[in-house]
Amino acid sequence: MIEETPIPEIDISGVPPHLGTHRVFLDLFCEVKEALMNPAQIRAVCIHEAGHHIYFSKMGVKNFLPTKARIWYDEEAKLFDSELAGLRPDLTSIRVNIQTVREQVLDMAKASAAGGIFTEALAEGMDVGNRRDRGLFKLQCEGLRPKVIVDDEAFWKLGEDEVRKDLKNEQEKENALTEARKIKLLIYPWSDVQF
Ligand SMILES: [Zn+2]
Repeated sequence: MIEETPIPEIDISGVPPHLGTHRVFLDLFCEVKEALMNPAQIRAVCIHEAGHHIYFSKMGVKNFLPTKARIWYDEEAKLFDSELAGLRPDLTSIRVNIQTVREQVLDMAKASAAGGIFTEALAEGMDVGNRRDRGLFKLQCEGLRPKVIVDDEAFWKLGEDEVRKDLKNEQEKENALTEARKIKLLIYPWSDVQF
């Protein structure tokens, strides 16, 4: 019997054809492919995305768009970049209410930081990275100016602490894993990894 190895899906449509043989691109492609073939990595990404999903859902976000693993070329920065598959929350339904803006910012900090905290707590030793999550949260805080000025660093830390506290609860941990399994079916349908 021949075992079929699943082939990872990687979207390279953002790489101009003339850069398709570029050394850096080829190395990055191998790196992304290797990550996608690593069951611990798949599990870690799904757990990371479960964190975002659980807390954005609590904020009332209903729509999440699955995105494929992709590599693209950033013309402005003159750099190749990559990301693994994920779930992008549609934040357009969130309305800023000036009366409760601080609670909203804290909720946003929790939802944005939850990916990293979930990975830290439930996928020990795996680094999925939350540089983008942190950067996006900073931009969202800056977007509130000049009406509202918030210390994004302080809110981020508070958000991290609250999610960490929530995850000490066994039931919350179980929910997180259940959610991560559902997300796996959605964003890595080609992968046969089970956890
Ligand atoms: Zn994230």
